[in-house]
Amino acid sequence: RAKLDGRGRARLFEPAMDALMQARRALELDLRKALRQGEFELHYQPLVDLRRHRVSGFEALLRWRHPERGLVPPGEFVPLAEEIGLIAPIGAWVLAEACAQAALWPEAVRVSVNLSPAQFGQGEALVDTVREALARSGLAPSRLELEITETVLLLDTHETLVTLGEIKALGVGIVMDDFGTGYSSLGYLRKFTFDKVKIDQSFVRDLGRREDCAAIVRAVTSLCDSLGMSTTAEGVEDEAQLAYLTAEGCTEAQGYLFSPPRPAADVPEMLRLCGERGDALLTRLEAAS
Ligand code: C2E
Ligand code: MG
Ligand code: MG
Ligand code: MG
Repeated sequence: RAKLDGRGRARLFEPAMDALMQARRALELDLRKALRQGEFELHYQPLVDLRRHRVSGFEALLRWRHPERGLVPPGEFVPLAEEIGLIAPIGAWVLAEACAQAALWPEAVRVSVNLSPAQFGQGEALVDTVREALARSGLAPSRLELEITETVLLLDTHETLVTLGEIKALGVGIVMDDFGTGYSSLGYLRKFTFDKVKIDQSFVRDLGRREDCAAIVRAVTSLCDSLGMSTTAEGVEDEAQLAYLTAEGCTEAQGYLFSPPRPAADVPEMLRLCGERGDALLTRLEAAS
């Protein structure tokens, strides 16, 4: 009888598992094809300099222009790409594309590119990829920033730190992304000298509602300042958040308040409109304080 139950259960789960595996396999094939056929594109979201009242750069955010599903956000395919070893070639494409685009922008405007922890498994090859993207595009290294998450340092290998050091030595900025979401965030700041820290949007979102978020943002901003690192607040959606961040001396803000990520063709318009909007908002906030 027990045997029968066991078999019955197995039969019940098999079709569901099969369907899952098949969907995954289909997505995997789709993803490989996407890379070959050029279905990826980068959208750009402005970073507004809170002291100089202007757009200081753009973060490049990956999108998949799927023939049937439309525009697919990175959360829906980057994890699988990492798993099946496709993030290295996709990441190389992202770097080359972002540098080529940024080379067309005004001199003072930087571009920020997200790196996957999996790309650090490549070691020296990652450094070569960065060097090549810069050389091919002619972009000055100081105009490129690379965003890494705490997970990269969680690997805690000597090689990771060597790779990061070599990229930094090219003159490229190294940014800690989503700061505050890891297990030992403060500890990571001691392992490597970052140029900039991005305060995770979960803290920014609740700024007006929760006192602990305000306290965390204040502490991170002042800590980074004393360590010589600049700070970017992610996910800034309203003026009250901007007012708080400005008062606390945060360096940059990024979020829907200024603009969502938009295609490369919209960069000139974002430079103008977000610059004007930022200047108007910040001038008003400064006058009120
Ligand atoms: P991230 O680097 O922390 O990027 C910020 C995310 O917040 C983006 O989501 C952006 O669209 C979203 N965002 C910006 N402003 C606001 C706002 O005011 N409110 C809210 N609610 N959200 C806002 P997106 O584009 O879906 O990207 C998600 C994540 O995917 C990124 O998080 C990054 O970790 C990863 N990613 C994006 N592009 C790449 C890439 O080229 N390579 C790799 N490895 N990962 C990437
Ligand atoms: Mg990022
Ligand atoms: Mg982030
Ligand atoms: Mg984030």
